[in-house]
Amino acid sequence: MILRFFKTIAFRLTVWYAGVFSVSSCVVFILFYFLATQVIVNQMDQELLDKSGIFSTIIQRKGMAGANNLAVLEAQAAGEKKVFFRLLYPNGEVFATSHMGYWGNIQVHQPSLEALIRLKEHVFLTQTVKHDARPLKSSKARVLYDFVAPDVILQTGLSMDTYESFLAAYKRIFGLAMGFVVVFSALLGWFMSKKALSGVDTITTTVKKITGSTLDERVFETGNQDELDYLAKTFNQMLDRIQILIKSIQEMSDNIAHDLKSPITRIRGFAELSLVQQDTLDDYRAMAANTIEESDRLLDMINTMLVISKVDAGQEEFNFELIDLSAMILDACELYQPLAEERQLDFTFDIQDQAIVSGDRRMLQRAFSNLVDNAFKYTRPNDSVSVRLLNDVSKLTVEISDTGIGIDPLDLEKIFQRFYRADESRTKQGAGLGLSLARTIARAHSGDITVTSQKGENTCFSFVLPHGNSPVI
Ligand code: ATP
Ligand code: MG
Repeated sequence: MILRFFKTIAFRLTVWYAGVFSVSSCVVFILFYFLATQVIVNQMDQELLDKSGIFSTIIQRKGMAGANNLAVLEAQAAGEKKVFFRLLYPNGEVFATSHMGYWGNIQVHQPSLEALIRLKEHVFLTQTVKHDARPLKSSKARVLYDFVAPDVILQTGLSMDTYESFLAAYKRIFGLAMGFVVVFSALLGWFMSKKALSGVDTITTTVKKITGSTLDERVFETGNQDELDYLAKTFNQMLDRIQILIKSIQEMSDNIAHDLKSPITRIRGFAELSLVQQDTLDDYRAMAANTIEESDRLLDMINTMLVISKVDAGQEEFNFELIDLSAMILDACELYQPLAEERQLDFTFDIQDQAIVSGDRRMLQRAFSNLVDNAFKYTRPNDSVSVRLLNDVSKLTVEISDTGIGIDPLDLEKIFQRFYRADESRTKQGAGLGLSLARTIARAHSGDITVTSQKGENTCFSFVLPHGNSPVI
């Protein structure tokens, strides 16, 4: 449970938020620290230089005795714990000094002295002062080495106690402020990530509720048009599609059950009759023939369903080859000729060009026969049925038109669904699978089947296929 909490996006966002906030605050504090110390030290240096300037002037005007007096007086005026003065010869020998009780053991820093003599340029240094009274505690002083007369060097220092206490106070404030920043930014981060992710929680709760029986549930769409609103919308669209899919699966299984029921009931009826009636051998034979016919119809239906499902799922193995579509259609039309005469239909076909397609011959024949079969089935005697092959630059179109019963505009797209049959055609034998199979085959060949119709007048199916790669010789 705790481990899960650490893995949540809210927790990780909070850590990021608090981290970034704290690091940036820390950087700002440190920058300010350096800036402040720099300014203070610069101010001290300037003060020391001013004092050195005064010493030069006094030496020029009043000589060494004046400088000696000045050292004592200046130190007394500013406070002997705050400032000291020493006048030295270039060899380091001290010849005048302010009262050094507090500064007792502050050394003359030889390297700084040498640098001053060598470069003729004043030298600043931060030196440590050890106090005899408090051996464990030391303080710091900012010290200047400068020439105040040709052979006279001034060593003057300012106590850095104020500076040190400022730094100590600053560090304390820094610690406190950082603690506050970390806690505040963590709380703020937690609050903000929780608020931002509240939509995700709503979605999760809804998803948990959705089981097979409550597919009606939908995620609340805030309408904010943000990412979560978009996610909720997409999720709802997905649920809509799933619902439609489940509904169509339910309808289909209802249809399958219904369509299987009729032939099985008839087969059972024949069997029952043969048991209860004392019939002749010919009657039994007729019953057996009927049973076979019904069983064939059943098998045919089941096989067609299997083919459609397999092609849809991409499991059906197609045997693609280059086929002369015109020859294939011509052969099929010639086979239908006797049936047309029997039904008193005016059957014509106009197929001239050699039209090459890449496809599975058996499957294309099956799709085409279903279309011609429909045209023959849904027409009345003396109606006409015609087949045309149009060879375009971009595609091949086989048109199967009839002047039959036509299709209601409301049924036009539905007739391609499995088991769908328009009411007018219920009197004819059929399972409602022919067009579904034909379209599935056409689409597996990168083609399609479309329909135009006027109810009671005519129907025209267009079977479109792309050209094959190279002509058959
Ligand atoms: P099956 O083809 O499985 O034996 P079927 O012919 O009823 O049965 P489909 O070929 O899929 O099924 O056709 C679906 C429906 O479309 C038909 O029931 C019919 O209502 C309508 N239909 C198809 N072709 C035509 C046509 N040429 N004229 C009028 N209606 C048609
Ligand atoms: Mg059919």
